[in-house]
Amino acid sequence: MAVAEVVPVFARRCQRLGHDVSHDDPMKPLLEVSNLRVHYHTLRGPVKAVDGVNFDLKAGERFSLVGESGSGKSTIALSLMRLIKPPGRIESGEVLLDGVNVMTLSEEQMRQLRLARIALISQGAMNSLNPVMRIKHQIADGLQSHGVRMSRQEAADRVGELLQWVGLRREVADMFPHELSGGMKQRVCIAIAISLRPRVIIADEPTSALDVVVQRQVMETLRRVQEDLEASVILIGHDMGLMAQFADRVGIMYAGRLVENGPVRDIFSHPRHPYSQLLIASLPSLGKKGVFQGIPGFPPSLLDLPPGCVFHPRCPYAMDRCAGEDPVLRPVGFNHSAACHLLEEHQEATS
Ligand code: SF4
Repeated sequence: MAVAEVVPVFARRCQRLGHDVSHDDPMKPLLEVSNLRVHYHTLRGPVKAVDGVNFDLKAGERFSLVGESGSGKSTIALSLMRLIKPPGRIESGEVLLDGVNVMTLSEEQMRQLRLARIALISQGAMNSLNPVMRIKHQIADGLQSHGVRMSRQEAADRVGELLQWVGLRREVADMFPHELSGGMKQRVCIAIAISLRPRVIIADEPTSALDVVVQRQVMETLRRVQEDLEASVILIGHDMGLMAQFADRVGIMYAGRLVENGPVRDIFSHPRHPYSQLLIASLPSLGKKGVFQGIPGFPPSLLDLPPGCVFHPRCPYAMDRCAGEDPVLRPVGFNHSAACHLLEEHQEATS
């Protein structure tokens, strides 16, 4: 089966199940995530890794999810791919990709969907390449597992094209992972991720463990293939500088919640949520030589979240209602929303 035939087959299967996959409306989001909750069930109780997250992604958009370690970013990535393993469990939520709720698909349908429609470059992906397998076989594996039948020559041509697309020489096809640098391995992972031309690429910390020069090159490669494919990207990380350069829109995560979501310029020039303000103020800059402003306190245990606003024990603006009432994401500007009682009170006072 040719590459181009894989997606129609998936679409036909979904239509047989009554799912509409035919949306071409440019105004409609490509991906819609609603009320996503993912818990890890431990002997000490449920760890609420993702607790009611909502966001959407338009075709061709670059969206960054940022936050401290343990804020739920990687769990969201795994949930969108339906790759959460026990003791983790997706408790609730809807993930519409091209109008199809991926939460209702069978395992076989999900296997077809991964790579063909939505691909994940997972954290540390470059270290998960098979050390005893040549690169060409690792790239061809993904194609063949989706029913793409190719002659040996067609496979070699396709692998060569993919390697060149991500800025590598065709000769890399015959190499083993240990013969490649970290940056080259990460490019191979990008080549695998785009091999079936997915519409959504999730990149979870794709440049961690790489030096800054290679980081930049890898990000440029990701941007180039994303533009060539007209795909949407969800970039996950905690390097705010990298996010600012790459993303159109940024979502700020804290303790399993999305506390702010808006255009990258607005978020950096005028962050609304107190946590976002502190996060951005803590970034080093040339004008703040030697002065680093941290965020007081520590993130809460996901086993025992504080009542009300999860940020209230660390928030410099906490009010009485913050300890008892959970704020919800509300619009605070064009395409910009934040979850904070302070903003709500400000809006009420000015209206
Ligand atoms: Fe701070 Fe209250 Fe806003 Fe939470 S809701 S961020 S505690 S002001």
